[in-house]
Amino acid sequence: KLDLAAKLARKLGADVKEEVVHAVDKVDLRVRKGEVVGLVGESGCGKSTLGRIVAGILPQSDGEVFWKGQEVGTLTGEAARQSKLQRQMIFQDPYASLNPRMRVADIVGEAPLVHGLTRRSEFDTYVDDQMRRAGLDPAFKRRYPHQFSGGQRQRIGIARALAVQPEFIVCDEAVAALDVSIQAQILNLFMRLRRELDLTYLFISHDLSVVEHLSDRVVIMYLGRVVEEAPTETIFRRANHPYTRSLLDSVPRIENRKRAFTVVKGEIPSPLNPPTGCHFHPRCPLAFDRCKAEAPALREVAPGHRSACHLNDAA
Ligand code: SF4
Ligand code: MG
Repeated sequence: KLDLAAKLARKLGADVKEEVVHAVDKVDLRVRKGEVVGLVGESGCGKSTLGRIVAGILPQSDGEVFWKGQEVGTLTGEAARQSKLQRQMIFQDPYASLNPRMRVADIVGEAPLVHGLTRRSEFDTYVDDQMRRAGLDPAFKRRYPHQFSGGQRQRIGIARALAVQPEFIVCDEAVAALDVSIQAQILNLFMRLRRELDLTYLFISHDLSVVEHLSDRVVIMYLGRVVEEAPTETIFRRANHPYTRSLLDSVPRIENRKRAFTVVKGEIPSPLNPPTGCHFHPRCPLAFDRCKAEAPALREVAPGHRSACHLNDAA
C-alpha cells in the first residue's frame, strides 16, 4: 500500500538575494507503508526542502503531495489536522526546536493535550510513557532542555514527535550533530521504534553510511533532482549513476567520520544557476557532449532500480 507520494513539478524554494531557487525540480517520491527510505545528497541538493514538503510544514508552490491516497491540499478540517499529525519531522538540532523555557513534560505533552490525545488527568502517565519509549528517564521530566546532553535532547525531540502518534516520520540529518557512539544509539532507537510502532520513515542524510543499515530503499538527489533510486543493497553493490558511485567512493570510514564531508571533485554548483543538461556534467568523470545539452530522464535500469544518466542509452 502506498502511504505517501509526492509529485513535484517544480518547487519554488526560498528567496536568496531576491532570486528564486528551484530547490526541487520534477521530483517523484513514493514511500510505502512501513518502508524506510533514505534520501541522500550533498547540502543544497533540495533534500531538506523535499522533506519539509512531504512532512507538511512547507507548502509546495507547484505539484502534489498525496497522503494515504489523498492530495493533502484538498483536505480540510479534521482530515487536514489528522494528516498533519500523522506526518512528523525530527531535525538535526533538537535544541533549536525545543523551547528553552519549557519543561520536558510540557514539550512532550503539549501537542497531545491540545489535540485531545490525552487528558489533564492522564497527562503525567502519558508523558512518562513517551519519555520511556524514547529512552529517557521520566524522573527528569521537570527539567529544561539545557540540562540534557545532545543525545538526550534528540531523544526529547523524538519523544515529542511520537507523542502525537504519527505514522510517518521525516528525519532530517537527525544524527548528524551527534558523536559517533551516540549516533549508533539513536539509529538503533529509530529501528526499534519502527518495529514497535510500525512507523514509516523518510531518513534524510548527506552520509550514505548513516542510511545504509536503516533504509530499505535509497533515493539519491543532486541539485534538486532525483538521479538514482534503488533498494539499499543495490545502491551499495551495483550503483548505476556516476554521482552515486563517487558518493560511495567517498563514504567516510568510521575513524574519520567527524571530518568534513568531502565528496566528489569540484564545487557543488549554485542551485541558483544549475548547469545545463545533466546537472552533474561539470563534475562527472564520464561526461560527454550530450550531457551538456540534454537532461537525462530517470529510467528503469533493472526492476525497482532507476537512474538518470545518458550512458544507459548506449546499451
Ligand atoms: Fe555523467 Fe553524462 Fe551520466 Fe550526467 S548523463 S551522470 S554527465 S555521463
Ligand atoms: Mg539540509
